[in-house]
Amino acid sequence: MSLSRADRSKTVVIDEGRVCFACGSSRSSELLGEICLHFPGGLESLDKPPVWAFPQVLVCLECGTAQFSLPEEQLKLIQGKENGAERPAS
Ligand SMILES: [Zn+2]
Repeated sequence: MSLSRADRSKTVVIDEGRVCFACGSSRSSELLGEICLHFPGGLESLDKPPVWAFPQVLVCLECGTAQFSLPEEQLKLIQGKENGAERPAS
């Protein structure tokens, strides 16, 4: 199944339908992920400990696009401009 760019913008990823927002495929798998997030900033950010998370990851079996939500505990660790992860609004 292939969607036009206009159709893709209308596609919403939802658990029930599991429609890929990138390609529109309904072929997906939910896997347990192990995600290690590093803060931006190159060498200067090496003193900041990485943030680990183990979310369920929804992977499109057609195009490989993956989607997950960070648990609130890990999300709070990366929020805020002082650690460099949150960029100012443009
Ligand atoms: Zn896809």
